[in-house]
Amino acid sequence: MTDTGKKLRIAKFLKIAISCSLLTLLALLTAAALRTLSMDVNAGLQLATWEKTANITLAIDRDQREQLLANLKEAIRIRTVSTSRTDINTSALLHFDRFIRKAFPTVFSSSLVKHEVVADYSHLFWVQGSRPELEPYMLLAHIDVVPAAESDAWDVPPFSADEKDGFIYGRGTMDDKSQVLAILQALEYLLMKGYAPQRGFYLGFGHDEEIGGDDGAMNIVKLLKERGVRFLFVLDEGSAIFDGILPGLDGAAATIATTEKGATLLKLSVSMPPSHSSMPPRETTIGILAAAVKRLEDNPMKRLFGLGPERGMLEHLAHKFRFPLNFIMSNLWLFSPLIARVMEKSPTTNAFVRTTTAVTMFNAGVKENVIASHAEAFVLEFVESTIGDPRVKIEVVSGFDPLPISPYDERAFGYQLIKKTVLDMFPSVTVVPVTLKKV
Ligand SMILES: [Zn+2]
Repeated sequence: MTDTGKKLRIAKFLKIAISCSLLTLLALLTAAALRTLSMDVNAGLQLATWEKTANITLAIDRDQREQLLANLKEAIRIRTVSTSRTDINTSALLHFDRFIRKAFPTVFSSSLVKHEVVADYSHLFWVQGSRPELEPYMLLAHIDVVPAAESDAWDVPPFSADEKDGFIYGRGTMDDKSQVLAILQALEYLLMKGYAPQRGFYLGFGHDEEIGGDDGAMNIVKLLKERGVRFLFVLDEGSAIFDGILPGLDGAAATIATTEKGATLLKLSVSMPPSHSSMPPRETTIGILAAAVKRLEDNPMKRLFGLGPERGMLEHLAHKFRFPLNFIMSNLWLFSPLIARVMEKSPTTNAFVRTTTAVTMFNAGVKENVIASHAEAFVLEFVESTIGDPRVKIEVVSGFDPLPISPYDERAFGYQLIKKTVLDMFPSVTVVPVTLKKV
């Protein structure tokens, strides 16, 4: 073949290759554009509309508002602290029992409501619906709190429920007495206005959630199982309405947690016979352990972005962003590798991208001139092969698997009902599914 013939063939090949690439790119961009334009984040909402009790106004008067505030403050002042399985404040839990009976008299006297105390301090309520063929749902919250000491840099004493700059401060305001009180208070006011639901529902308030819920939640589950109760959905404490959840997002996002990330607490340790610092061995326990921890930090677990519920979250938020972000976020099938690289740069968004590793405690050494015989590090999440050193002993302290992902599509009645309720109360927010991350 002549040189000219060769060149012509190469030119022809290049032409075809470039045309093919352009066509592919065009097809991908057309598909992405169609998806951006056709995505309807509010599909499925109609599922929830019929449940709305239209004849009852949600408005409350000034006195009721004052009462509501006073009730929340009183609840926070009751020190229902769970420290350990053998150390829970039982007298405060009994006090809380007396408090809710006094604060919500209509709930406790209504013929529609059945209340029972479970495991001495937890509470189970059944609110009967007019249509027993409808599967009930359940709302959960917990009445215990983790310990709080005034020395922990609180702006106000942690059980004072003092108001400062328009906010109520105190242990349990967020986690989780606000939820207990919101549920009971809403039910109290609704019942006072003659509310009678079509669909029955349960309320469950555990007393030992902060130490595992083995007594309260477990016994409520046992009881309901024995009775053969099945739920349409269960709503527990979880997420909230956030401002600034993603850089560039205007307005607040109401996040419904549809799953929770798993977590493992590992303890790493290295043991060697003790020696004096004047005659140190070539490697010390601290050196070996520090090297292992450094390897863990240098080798994060692989990116899994775009495969979990974060996909739904970004797609639901996409329409709140301008071009090109809306285009990119509506098409994670195409752009997830790109977004993942951007998100992993920030610690707050890196957790959306992968299983993260965090060294949380490091103890070693008893005295400055004695080389430690035992060094410990607590490491969350761990890849054994990353450490690759048999002298580092690895023990699992505790852990739990990620929860199954609850459905949040346009056929998921529970999700749509919660979303509709949020939008009724906060019309300007964007409602998105998220993954809860334990801290
Ligand atoms: Zn909680």
